[in-house]
Amino acid sequence: MIVAIDGPAGAGKSTVAKILAKRLDFLYIDTGAMYRALTLKALDNNVDIYDERKINDLALKTIIDLRSNPDGSLSIFLDGKDVSLEIRRPRITQYVSDVSKIKGVRQVLVKMQRELGKKGDCVLEGRDIGTVVFPNAEKKFFIDASAEVRVNRRFKELKGLNQNVAEVDVAKDLSNRDKIDSTREVSPLRKAEDAIYIDTTELSIEGVVEKMLELCK
Ligand code: C5P
Repeated sequence: MIVAIDGPAGAGKSTVAKILAKRLDFLYIDTGAMYRALTLKALDNNVDIYDERKINDLALKTIIDLRSNPDGSLSIFLDGKDVSLEIRRPRITQYVSDVSKIKGVRQVLVKMQRELGKKGDCVLEGRDIGTVVFPNAEKKFFIDASAEVRVNRRFKELKGLNQNVAEVDVAKDLSNRDKIDSTREVSPLRKAEDAIYIDTTELSIEGVVEKMLELCK
């Protein structure tokens, strides 16, 4: 069974997807981490992220591996190296949406995501899971929240990772990424017609997970 979770940045997708996967004993796949890993590789190798041909070539030569940890978290390996923390840094967040809008990049990563999905029951989280990656997913959710709450949640999450960021910069980043992600030509962020819309603005994590679990059963 495939559970697809999409929605804008900071809506709480990762948090609920991780818990839901653990409770269902499904594999958790964070597709945003894959776009982040490729962005890291491009920046570290001084590849111009606006040069589509070069970025496409780079994507084809990249191995991204997601490994589940016993606590339900995920470690991200880029060409064999653990980059789980590195990919959350602001320098990656700043450019990831520009890399993600490249058609060839999406082709390569969507293929990887479909292969991962074949391994068994999965919860996949991203922007285009229900619309493009697994349009036939058995269960689809679109997780949303007010802009204010999303900024606040992301700010707290980054603080938890010991990142020294200003809330105003987090707000700018979210609005910038939402704009690029939802207006790009290839697989823009949007709710699949058959996805269940959940506004988490006023809901607790546990409340959202319980609601989703009920709907999955
Ligand atoms: O989920 P996260 O915020 O880590 O995703 C980082 C970026 O990766 C998004 O802003 C978006 O540009 C891109 N992304 C995407 N398609 C997905 C998942 C993420 O384009 N399925």
